[in-house]
Amino acid sequence: MTNRKRILLLLLILFFGQGMMANSHSKRVLLINSYSPDFPTYNNIHKAINEASGDLSIDIEFLYGKEHSNRVYFEKLQQLFAEKISLRPPYDVVVTVDNIALQFVLGMRDSLFRDIPIVFCGVEDRELIQQARLAEGVSGITEFCAFDETIALAARLNPDLNEIVALTDNTITGVANFQLLNDYCTQFSGIACSSIDFGRTTYNDALKQLSKVTGDKAVLLISAYRDSTSAYTSFQKALSDILRVSQVPVYHLYEHGIGQGIVGGKPISHYHMLKKVFDKIKSSSTEWLMTDTSIVNMEPVEFIVDCAVVNHFGLSEKAIPDSAIILNKPTSFFKIEKSVLYLALILVGLLLLFVVYLSITVRNRRRMNYELMLAKEKAEESNRLKTAFIANMSHEIRTPMNSIVGFSSLLRSTDLNYETRGQYCRIIEDNSNHLLALISDIIDISKIESGDFSFRLSKIEVLPILKNQVLEYQQKIVRLNKSIELKLNSEIGKEFYIVSDKVRFKQLLSNLLGNAVKYTTEGEIELGCKLKNSELLIYVKDTGIGISADFLPKIFERFMREEDAKKVYDGTGLGLAIAKSIVQKWNGKIWVESEKGKGSTFYFTCPLQ
Ligand code: ADP
Repeated sequence: MTNRKRILLLLLILFFGQGMMANSHSKRVLLINSYSPDFPTYNNIHKAINEASGDLSIDIEFLYGKEHSNRVYFEKLQQLFAEKISLRPPYDVVVTVDNIALQFVLGMRDSLFRDIPIVFCGVEDRELIQQARLAEGVSGITEFCAFDETIALAARLNPDLNEIVALTDNTITGVANFQLLNDYCTQFSGIACSSIDFGRTTYNDALKQLSKVTGDKAVLLISAYRDSTSAYTSFQKALSDILRVSQVPVYHLYEHGIGQGIVGGKPISHYHMLKKVFDKIKSSSTEWLMTDTSIVNMEPVEFIVDCAVVNHFGLSEKAIPDSAIILNKPTSFFKIEKSVLYLALILVGLLLLFVVYLSITVRNRRRMNYELMLAKEKAEESNRLKTAFIANMSHEIRTPMNSIVGFSSLLRSTDLNYETRGQYCRIIEDNSNHLLALISDIIDISKIESGDFSFRLSKIEVLPILKNQVLEYQQKIVRLNKSIELKLNSEIGKEFYIVSDKVRFKQLLSNLLGNAVKYTTEGEIELGCKLKNSELLIYVKDTGIGISADFLPKIFERFMREEDAKKVYDGTGLGLAIAKSIVQKWNGKIWVESEKGKGSTFYFTCPLQ
């Protein structure tokens, strides 16, 4: 790059750089507020200033226009201003808020603000607007209160509304707005307009007049700052007095005071107006603002209604416009305490879970206790039965053993004839057999207890087994010398097979036939067999001692013997328990029908497959 080019580039950077710096310098704005910082509108003004102060450098001056209204004050204020402003760097724009500030600035236009653009807002005084229109470099926003919509709101909330009582005074705002209200009042048929003018009476008299307003009327607060004696009352003081004495709802045309007892209205918002002014200043050059003379009106944007006041005066809450900003809306318990509600629900849920857990635990514990109690009873019963069994066994074993030992020693004697010797041998043989049967039952029952009861399935032919059993027990009957006829009644033929354990099947028949022979002295025993419901039904019917109805339910339990039977007949009380276990092995059923003294019939079934 040549030296000449370098110099050219440097000049370009300097030129555009300065331009850029000039653009980036924030405009100096002098904002003149008609009133004091404690005037209620200032909150909204301050909010707009705060938001704009990042882009604009804003100085604020207050004229205290509500407190002081005489000419001398303003003349002195103008002198003071001239001195103050001359000491400061020049301003790019002057912004005025409300009527007094614009009137004040226009009065000093030639002397102090000659070449500075003026942007005003919050002005409704028609003469003043006209004056502003004629001046050069003056633009702004007029504020016309929403009289019609505020009165319409009052009529909506109280359909019986018949009069609007305006509270006004002789300030610029008061006079200008009262004129406007009179124009609007003609629009509403059935609603009369009257006024209490603070400017024509003393403050206290005005309040007295207000306190007498009753019925379906509404008060519209326009302005109540100055009374006929020129005494100034602050907005807050006037508002609290008005709300204290008024018996009818009070509406307002400005945002301030709403939320403190005023019903509401469609109020002018200084925030929105000033925001618009600042936006315009930010986006425009000072030169352009000097040529701008546009004056626009800004409609109030939204209704604001205080629900608590509506309810206090018995107005219709339902008639509040949907779009309105609603203050002090009574929130339902569910809305206010949502978090509390959720917490309560969670707690209730947890409590329920805890209760469910407790009830389950208590139920389980009860069931466990019950099961334990049953187990204890069973264990006690079993212990009792076992003790009885051992005692019984010792007796049962000792009886045949005594016979065996006794007759064995008698056999040694040499002077026994052949017949007696043979008789003794039979006694020894019978008792040995009985002992063997007993030991075999004990072994079987202990195997059932330990789950070691062997059971081998095979295809077995039924009829030969039945015939053999009948034959065997016929011989036994003869041996016992009992007059019993034992017969077989079989409806199945030869080569009829079932799948079962042959040894256990025979054992089962033997137990039942053995009992029938044992518990029958004379009469008949029938071993029967037939097909029923695709099962083989076998029965043993006798004409013996029979079984009592009380004993029948426990007849298949171990060691259970009926008292009658115990006294007269030998036995272990195990035969039927073993029989039941065998039948259960092939999923069959076993039951008994009996009548005391007449006889019994034992049935059992065998599935064919
Ligand atoms: P046991 O016959 O050795 O006493 P069981 O278990 O075979 O033992 O029988 C239990 C009880 O059932 C018998 O003691 C008896 O009271 C009763 N019982 C069994 N079979 C008959 C029967 N055919 N007639 C009358 N009572 C019987």
